[in-house]
Amino acid sequence: MAGTRIGGLKASKTMKLRYGATVYESIGRKGGEISRGGGFAKDHELARTSGRKGGSVKSLSCNKGHLYEPDNFQMVDRGGYVSRRCLTCYRAATLRKRNSRWEKEKQLRLEKTVDTIT
Ligand SMILES: [Zn+2]
Repeated sequence: MAGTRIGGLKASKTMKLRYGATVYESIGRKGGEISRGGGFAKDHELARTSGRKGGSVKSLSCNKGHLYEPDNFQMVDRGGYVSRRCLTCYRAATLRKRNSRWEKEKQLRLEKTVDTIT
């Protein structure tokens, strides 16, 4: 079975027997020499611009992924801070609300007619 601790220890023993006791040390050194050194860790400016990119991509769409195009969002005041509202989601929510009200009224009418019949 692959990936067990005992297997790893066996493999390590074989590697050391085959290539010498310092085999892992030299592999690590080779990797370290090739590496050009840690992306974001070394390049603060890269981290900043990448973070901005990620942030702006996210703010281009609502939580459900509708794009915030000029005719698809509205600025709304939510208790002191301004936030964007996705009109696609807003319309869907309004429709749901209206439908549920209609359903209720239909139910009421039905009950009334039942009352008048009996
Ligand atoms: Zn939306």
